[in-house]
Amino acid sequence: MKIVIALGGNALGNSPKEQLELVKESARPIVDLIEEGHDVIIAHGNGPQVGMINLAFEESKSVNSKIPEVPFAECNAMSQGYIGYHLQNALREEMLTRGLEKSVATVVTQVIVDKNDQAFENPTKPIGSFYSLEEARAIEAAKGYRFVEDSGRGYRRVVASPKPIDIAEISILSSLMDSGHIVIAVGGGGIPVYRDGFRLIGLDAVIDKDFASSKLAEKLDADYLIILTAVERVAINFGQENEEWLSELDIATANKYIGEGHFAPGSMLPKIEAAKEFALSKKGRKALITSLSKASEGIRGETGTVIEDK
Ligand code: ADP
Ligand code: MG
Repeated sequence: MKIVIALGGNALGNSPKEQLELVKESARPIVDLIEEGHDVIIAHGNGPQVGMINLAFEESKSVNSKIPEVPFAECNAMSQGYIGYHLQNALREEMLTRGLEKSVATVVTQVIVDKNDQAFENPTKPIGSFYSLEEARAIEAAKGYRFVEDSGRGYRRVVASPKPIDIAEISILSSLMDSGHIVIAVGGGGIPVYRDGFRLIGLDAVIDKDFASSKLAEKLDADYLIILTAVERVAINFGQENEEWLSELDIATANKYIGEGHFAPGSMLPKIEAAKEFALSKKGRKALITSLSKASEGIRGETGTVIEDK
C-alpha cells in the first residue's frame, strides 16, 4: 500500500538533543511498515522547532543589530531541513541495520495556499516571543503584525493558519516514491506560499500539518493516511468518566461527534477533519489515527481509529 505517515510532536521532542534520541524510536515503527513492503512517505509537525529557530533570531537581534530580520517562512524552511536531517539519519541507520537497501531524503516543500483564505482575516496561531502591551503596540504600528494576549504570559504575535491547496513539489515527491525511495516532505505543514504568475511568494503563516499531510496523501493517490500521535485511539467524552475509545468512525458519525464538541480544536479536531477530507477524496481511501508504537498493529486492523466513508 501507498502510505502517508504524519508524525506528531511527541515523535520529535523539544530540543536537538532530545530529538536525536526520539527519532530513533520513531524510525522503528516506520521501518516496520517499509519492511512489510509498503511505500511510505513521511510528514511531520514542527511547532517547538520552528519556535526555537524564530526565538533564537528574535532574541539575538536584540543584542546584535547585525543579525538580520528572518521571516517566518524562512524559519519554517530551516526547521524542515533540521528535522529532516535527524529523521533521514535515523531512518537510514534503522534500514541498513535490517538489511534494507533503500535511500531516504528530505524535500524542502512549498505548500500553496489562497492569499484570500478566510484564515488571514482572523489569525489564531501564536508564534515567537512574549512582549509587553507597549512593545506589542509599537511592533503592530511599525510592521502591521497582529498581537494577542496569550494566557496571562504577555502579548504574542499571531499568524493565520490557511488551508493547503496544492503542493509545489508534488511531482518529484511522486517520482521518488515510485522509484522506491523513502521521502520526508511537507514538514511543519510545508512553507506557506501563494502564486503570483510564475512566482511563489512565502507567507508568515502556519499550515496545519494534519491538513498538509491529508493533501499530500490525496495528491499522491495514497491508500492510507496514518496520523501518529500521543493517543492509541480517538475517544468521545475524552478524559471524562464515560470516555469511550473508538475503533471505527464513519463520516456521518464523525460529523455528529464534531457537532457535539468531542474533539479539542487545537489538537484532535484538525486530525479528524484531515482524516475525513482524505477519506472523502476518493472511494476506498482510509485514514488511521493511532500512536507511534502501534502503527503496524493499526494497519493490520488491531488497534487505532479508522476513519472511512462507508
Ligand atoms: P500532535 O503533536 O500529534 O499533533 P496534539 O497534541 O496536537 O498532537 O493532538 C493529540 C492530542 O489530542 C492527544 O494527546 C489528546 O490529549 C488530545 N485529544 C483531544 N481530544 C481528544 C479525543 N477526543 N480523543 C483523543 N485525544 C484527544
Ligand atoms: Mg497537533
